[in-house]
Amino acid sequence: MKGKLTISVDLELAWGVWDELTPERLRLAEDAERPICAALIELFDRHAIRATWAMVAALLDEKSSEARPGAKGCWYAPDIVERLLAAKTQHEIGSHGGHHVYYDEIDAASAGEDLAFARNIHRRSDLPFVSMVFPRNTIGHLPELEKAGLRVFRGPDAGPVTTLRKAVRPLGQAANLADKLLPFPPPLVHAARRGAMIEVPGSMLLIGRNGLRRFVLPTVTRAKLERGLARARSHGGVFHVWFHPSNFYYRRDEQLDTLDWFLERAADEAARGHIDVLTMGAYADSQSTERSSPAMAS
Ligand SMILES: [Zn+2]
Repeated sequence: MKGKLTISVDLELAWGVWDELTPERLRLAEDAERPICAALIELFDRHAIRATWAMVAALLDEKSSEARPGAKGCWYAPDIVERLLAAKTQHEIGSHGGHHVYYDEIDAASAGEDLAFARNIHRRSDLPFVSMVFPRNTIGHLPELEKAGLRVFRGPDAGPVTTLRKAVRPLGQAANLADKLLPFPPPLVHAARRGAMIEVPGSMLLIGRNGLRRFVLPTVTRAKLERGLARARSHGGVFHVWFHPSNFYYRRDEQLDTLDWFLERAADEAARGHIDVLTMGAYADSQSTERSSPAMAS
């Protein structure tokens, strides 16, 4: 089976941190986010690589921005979505929920309401509503997703670090940083059926460079990206890279250079026919999905 590259971007602005706002975060959402999105769209266009942009639906609802702290532009961003839709490369617009609420903390009725709100916004703007990235990657209420018409979701990053992080939090965080610091290859993942839905787990977060993470060298990140791509190619799995525009807030140019370098390699591999670049939504129609277990296969 041919290797696949999938890139998903969580587009959220201040909604991503609505429950832990600081003046600094509001300032960055207001000033830094738009130039970064413009630069990302330009990079994807330069290399003709498609991505799934999972959007908090409230970004297209002016009413939702009312009574929120800070500038309106931190919460309401139709300009960014317009820019995305005007890109030469046709991206997929996916969902990052209605108001960035956490699906492991709410009941099924609230999840249903959040999804109905998101679906209405997508319909109203003639945007697809196929792929879901859960806020904070906390998976929950898959039957509600299915009812709302969604078909694919991004699962938590695969690999031992995720398991360890869940088991022992402080140790997990240290392991997580060690994993980012050292050029371990990121895990190869496979799309799998989860009932009526399809899960495409993450392989690698392109991390931000603030705090301790500034010590993660671009050469290490590049080595990981390269190994992820090489393994997808040789083993025929999926390399699923994801990030938020906010992961480019610090050391922006260095981060953009890293992505540029990676997209150039990916485009070259795709041009040689070694890999396919797929949006998350493409897995909904793909024949190459693994069945997770006979019991779960539909
Ligand atoms: Zn988010």
